[in-house]
Amino acid sequence: MKTTTTASTHTEPWDVIIIGGGATGAGTARDCARRGLKTLMLERHDIATGATGRNHGLLHSGSRYAVTDRESAEECIKENMILKKIARHCVEKTDGLFLTLPEDDLSYQSKFIESCQAAGINVQAIDPKEALLREPSANPTIIGAVLVPDGTVDPFRLTLSNILDAKEHGAEILTYHEVLGLIKEQNRIIGVKIYDHVNKEEKDIYGNIIVNASGIWGQKIAEYADLKIKMFPAKGSLLIFGHRVNQMVLNRCRKPADADILVPGDTICLIGTTSTHVPFEEVDQMYVNPEEVDILLREGEKLSPSLVNTRILRGYAGVRPLVASDDDPSGRNVSRGIVLLDHEIRDGLEGFITITGGKLMTYRLMAEWATDLICKKLNNTTRCTTAEVNLPGSRLTKEEVNKKIISVPSSIRESAIYRMGDKAENLSCNTDIENSLVCECEEVSAGEVEYAFKELHVNNLIDLRRRTRVGMGTCQGELCACRAAGLMNQYSNLPANKCKESLSVFLNERWKGIRPIAWGDTLRESEFTSWIYEGVCGLNLSEEQLKNTKK
Ligand SMILES: Cc1cc2nc3c(=O)[nH]c(=O)nc-3n(C[C@H](O)[C@H](O)[C@H](O)COP(=O)(O)OP(=O)(O)OC[C@H]3O[C@@H](n4cnc5c(N)ncnc54)[C@H](O)[C@@H]3O)c2cc1C
Repeated sequence: MKTTTTASTHTEPWDVIIIGGGATGAGTARDCARRGLKTLMLERHDIATGATGRNHGLLHSGSRYAVTDRESAEECIKENMILKKIARHCVEKTDGLFLTLPEDDLSYQSKFIESCQAAGINVQAIDPKEALLREPSANPTIIGAVLVPDGTVDPFRLTLSNILDAKEHGAEILTYHEVLGLIKEQNRIIGVKIYDHVNKEEKDIYGNIIVNASGIWGQKIAEYADLKIKMFPAKGSLLIFGHRVNQMVLNRCRKPADADILVPGDTICLIGTTSTHVPFEEVDQMYVNPEEVDILLREGEKLSPSLVNTRILRGYAGVRPLVASDDDPSGRNVSRGIVLLDHEIRDGLEGFITITGGKLMTYRLMAEWATDLICKKLNNTTRCTTAEVNLPGSRLTKEEVNKKIISVPSSIRESAIYRMGDKAENLSCNTDIENSLVCECEEVSAGEVEYAFKELHVNNLIDLRRRTRVGMGTCQGELCACRAAGLMNQYSNLPANKCKESLSVFLNERWKGIRPIAWGDTLRESEFTSWIYEGVCGLNLSEEQLKNTKK
């Protein structure tokens, strides 16, 4: 294997520097590290803060794309089977139903089944009555149903597990490190200019291959090298409901359209999505608007009428990292296919590649393609093992982990194993405090919070939420946020005023998602939260914090 050959002025001898800590960047870091490359991954915020943390979490079977995009459908079903094995603690094998409503064209069903079978997806038309027995929350007026091997995947756990494996194999992961420029020497990119948001300093870092895995922001990273990648920013909005109405994924059996997927996950379910082309300049400012809420509710209730009476927890929006290929204004017809660009071949610029497009579902395959290309450039012949070796957390079965930590109280034990898989072995559980609950809605213990602060790159309470689900449940942080802030002070060594600031930012961020659906019980509960924190605790955002939260 060729190691670093950068000039003597270069301070960091990385084989590969990956820009972006979404699923694609984390997967690429894992693959590169497993193949023995000296790997650095840089993420400007926390991990999974781009599209990876703002999607349905649908483990596609590929059925959704079978009619319109056969290649994507085939990739999905292969990766679906791989992830069910290597990432079993991040995945739920729920199966899914494609439902035909009286207003839909039933003849689409046969085309759908034919296309799925051609793509290698095992689907089966079932009697609507049987579908209702399997999934009682589905609309009772359905006239057709097809059973598909869809599932659900937790994007935060998946990204984290890839990062843990990358670290186990020697990779360095730097969150809150933003790439502000690329360093060019003649016709080669030799490094990156970064800003370290934690220590508030700028640095230059050098590497042999620089990987642009920054999703929709890949367009901007390419511009730093004077290259053009025209991304197609397609915004999608989703709503989260307060409990899990459905156990199986519910889809509409028609050409992909607005609000036609209802996905169960953890303690909740969510409906999505809309699809609107937005200007690239706005991709950092995504808010759910009232029209989108209307569409999501109207269409969602057709899939499962019980949503009418189900409390909505919050809304959120993400931007799909699609690469522009036609003038379709919605982005629904733009391919979900993987785009790997070797800028040496495409633009005559060595040492720089881009991996984008695709889906959360196909992150591992995207990483494999990118790493194959990196290895070719570095004369490394080690083969990819990421499809065979289970991720950290998925190495032991639930039963095996359960036996190992049988002394932990059962409520905490079960939810910790559900979230952490075999990493629950590392749970701190020696004292009453460690075994006490911080978040009742999601059953998160103080021991799990302690582990997250000490081992899982947690810098603030929002990062903690992504690692543990603290504040993601029905109360949206009302009861747990202040306890988590206290523990932050204890486990992170940050002074009390910083933890208090983090608490303000956390609560304000929760409100951003609640605001589009703030009526009824949700509004009442938010008001109550604001009385507690602003009225009783005197918590308010400073001008500067307000500016940062608006960014
Ligand atoms: C509404 C919606 C629903 C979706 N539903 C599904 C689904 O159900 N199933 C599925 O499989 N896929 C789904 N997708 C697609 C999927 O979410 C994305 O394809 C996937 O998450 C992209 O991952 P990524 O790592 O390539 O990009 P991202 O997750 O966007 O990661 C890019 C990262 O780069 C970082 N970055 C950007 N600029 C810089 C910089 N200058 N320096 C350092 N870091 C930087 C960003 O902060 C970000 O974390 C959906 C997408 C959307 C928007």
